[in-house]
Amino acid sequence: MTMEASNTRWLDYAPAPESTSILHLKKSYGLFIDGDFVAGSGRSFTTISPADEHSIAEIASADAGDVDRAVAAARKAYNSTWSKLGGADRGKYLYRIARLVQERARELAVAESLDNGKPIKESRDVDVPLVAAWFFYYAGWADKLEHAGLGPNPRALGVAAQVIPWNFPLLMLAWKIAPALAAGNTVVIKPAETTPLSALIFAEILQQADLPNGVVNIITGAGETGSLLVNHPDVNKVAFTGSTAVGRAIAKSTAGTGKKLTLELGGKAANIVFDDAPIDQAIEGIVNGIFFNQGHVCCAGSRLLVQENIETEVVDRLKERLVTLRMGDPLDKNTDIGAINSRAQLDRIRALSDIGEEEGATRWSAPCEIPAKGFWFAPTIFTGVETSHRIAREEIFGPVLSVLTFRTPAEAIAKANNTPYGLSAGIWSDKGSKVLAVADKLRAGVIWANTFNKFDPSSPFGGYKESGYGREGGRHGLAAYLTNAVLQSGANK
Ligand code: NAP
Ligand code: MG
Repeated sequence: MTMEASNTRWLDYAPAPESTSILHLKKSYGLFIDGDFVAGSGRSFTTISPADEHSIAEIASADAGDVDRAVAAARKAYNSTWSKLGGADRGKYLYRIARLVQERARELAVAESLDNGKPIKESRDVDVPLVAAWFFYYAGWADKLEHAGLGPNPRALGVAAQVIPWNFPLLMLAWKIAPALAAGNTVVIKPAETTPLSALIFAEILQQADLPNGVVNIITGAGETGSLLVNHPDVNKVAFTGSTAVGRAIAKSTAGTGKKLTLELGGKAANIVFDDAPIDQAIEGIVNGIFFNQGHVCCAGSRLLVQENIETEVVDRLKERLVTLRMGDPLDKNTDIGAINSRAQLDRIRALSDIGEEEGATRWSAPCEIPAKGFWFAPTIFTGVETSHRIAREEIFGPVLSVLTFRTPAEAIAKANNTPYGLSAGIWSDKGSKVLAVADKLRAGVIWANTFNKFDPSSPFGGYKESGYGREGGRHGLAAYLTNAVLQSGANK
């Protein structure tokens, strides 16, 4: 499955698959409610490996009664235990969870790559270490809420309903659960239907950590379960990460209910490369920006804005780089590009790419063999893209880069901001003053300079416009789970 330029021979690597023997998977998983795995009353479903479509396990589905039970367990735990514990004690649990994640890191990474299709070197070196970092970071805040610059008397909200997507299953779970617990809330969380596995192993970690029953409840199921959860009358907070369409529906249904809401939605980030940029680093940054995690990244640099006079050089070098990427078995330690998470997502990527060609853009895909089974899409670049093209406006959420050009910084800024989204952006230039001047005019929540896709628990993350509102990470992420929280610098400017 190694990609090869037609006229270049690359040394082939021997297969180096990570063993799955570290997993102790059950044939079927129940819902994790009140500290125990229990049967679900909805219709169970199978989670599969997107790399070869084999079944991994049978997963329970929560119906309305199960959602009620989970919310009731969270409410009881909030009233009887969690709200009575001091911050230092909450912190101890969070530290314990962080250490257990580290202890079981390999197992979690293998499970994540198996269920999601992402390369093991990413789940091993990025996802799982960040999960531990998120719990360590928020553990440190649990007993210092009064000193977080959020006002004199921040208080927990109560029960948090959380719904997460499939692209970073365990990391999104950590982004949701760690600040919620640190701030003193209890949680009911629903992972995505295609990637429940790591959340269910995490439930075992909560048991190992002796977290009081009901503080975290993990209910699996489809979108219907998510809808029942966020619309449950006894939740005080809703935190959703996913598509803008579902986010909009949740904003409507929670309006006027008194529930505090955080939405982390889609993006169509501009990655702006000026002609004075360090080109070698920029090429790596463009590749990391859009091909990391098969492009299933809300903040992916999916629109490359390159200064016109260096377009040919940048595109040629990008193509040279892409033919060296290795696509294949997500569990192989040499794999750079794994599988697309689901058939539905693959269909969406194919459809939008076909539209790109129909609208007149030029498509180039890295030459590679597509395995017979599973869901795969070769890294693809579109040149000749106009701002009016759908591939320049809509989130593809796959390994597809749209290349546009600009002549002046003002044109780059105008094109970058010409989107309904506003989650992230990248700027590549040798001149710090230019970077700062441009960054100041971009309407995006996160802006990277001479790098891309860098995440840190102390740094707030979130969007403008249709990318959502509220922030995760840092003190801002705590504020989302507290009442009376007043941020010194506005989170939603
Ligand atoms: P999605 O369809 O909105 O699903 C996200 C989650 O919501 C899943 O758990 C899903 O369940 C559930 N869900 C579906 N319909 C629902 C409803 N009516 N009410 C409540 N929950 C519902 O999004 P996706 O396509 O899986 O995920 C990709 C999207 O997430 C992209 O647009 C991406 O940009 C965005 N994203 C944003 C961030 C961020 O931080 N801004 C991070 C990651 C991803 P099922 O899995 O069963 O459908
Ligand atoms: Mg799966």
